[in-house]
Amino acid sequence: MWKRYRRLVAWAEAVLILGLPFLRVNGQSALRFDIPTLSLYFFGSVVRLTEFYFILVASLFFLVLIVWATAVFGRFWCGWLCPQTVLLDMAEDFGGWLLKNRSWGAKLVLLPLSAIVSASLIWYFVPPWEFFQRVFDSATVTGFFVVQWVVIYLELAFAGRKFCKYVCPYSMLQTALFDRDTLVIVFQGRPEEFEGKRACLMCHRCERVCPVEIDIKEGLQRQCIACTACIDACKEVTSKQDTREFISYRGRILRDKTIVLGAVVVAFGFVTLLSVALRPPITAVVKRQTKQSSPLVNVYSYTITNNLPERIEVAISVEGPYRFIGQKRVVLEPFEVLTGQFMLKSEGRDSEPPLIIIKTGDYQIRQRAGYL
Ligand code: SF4
Ligand code: SF4
Repeated sequence: MWKRYRRLVAWAEAVLILGLPFLRVNGQSALRFDIPTLSLYFFGSVVRLTEFYFILVASLFFLVLIVWATAVFGRFWCGWLCPQTVLLDMAEDFGGWLLKNRSWGAKLVLLPLSAIVSASLIWYFVPPWEFFQRVFDSATVTGFFVVQWVVIYLELAFAGRKFCKYVCPYSMLQTALFDRDTLVIVFQGRPEEFEGKRACLMCHRCERVCPVEIDIKEGLQRQCIACTACIDACKEVTSKQDTREFISYRGRILRDKTIVLGAVVVAFGFVTLLSVALRPPITAVVKRQTKQSSPLVNVYSYTITNNLPERIEVAISVEGPYRFIGQKRVVLEPFEVLTGQFMLKSEGRDSEPPLIIIKTGDYQIRQRAGYL
């Protein structure tokens, strides 16, 4: 029965989503977006929102991944992985166990479940060990937690599968990406479609179990979330009649289109990982301040970003007939963004603009700065 496999996948996903924020790599959350610094902590590395090339490559990767996954596996995401489906399935399972009226039981179970979902969403922005402290003494964290809890609860308890059926934009997109070999759940119960053997028993079990209330016997429909409930229901009925079920998966995974698209996905994934792995150890920006302390002295501000998960020492110097006034060596903690200032005093006439050198280990950044 598919239900057993779907529940296994659902539990694995729940453990992953709830457990990931507790995992730390290089002293930081494995996956978290830090709002104050606009940085994404990504499995031991940090990607800042200012790194447009990475955001572009990552967005393209996700785009081709979605196109490929939908063209090959159809609505596999909706039926097996979508948090909306997983949470509603879990709530119905526990609800049936809690109350005789399964639907009210599910509504009850959704209350604590929505609270956990709300908290886990915040953990991807505020580390969980900080969240448990701040949820009681930070109005922002408490506010987000409560508002999300209410919205998630209302959406799951009262919109539920109707959201998948009428609202979800991904379902509309999926229909456009399907082709005739995409993996879908279909009815094959007519004698001519079922090798002339026994035809559908018309017991209507498949319609009764369908969470989006459609009749798969009428053909593939946009509303179908590929939850496999109708396959299981039909199997239960037909196994007693010693015949095969009339509803099943149909599609071809290995074909030219999926291989070509799959190769594009792998290539984009590789470029995305490479763009993180091959980043320089530091990035730096130096700007001359418009307000100067005296006519012969120029003031400069700098921002140095440590892209490494380790403490580093950075040397700042100048090339040319200029005297450097300020701290020549600074220490940056792992992934720290450091800002500071220094001054330059010209010691020669009609000289070239100063060349600022920012160096760590063998790597150096050379940036020409203006001088008035
Ligand atoms: S038709 Fe079958 S697979 Fe599709 S949503 Fe209904 S029960 Fe699930
Ligand atoms: S559950 Fe199977 S046998 Fe019963 S109506 Fe649906 S397709 Fe036909």
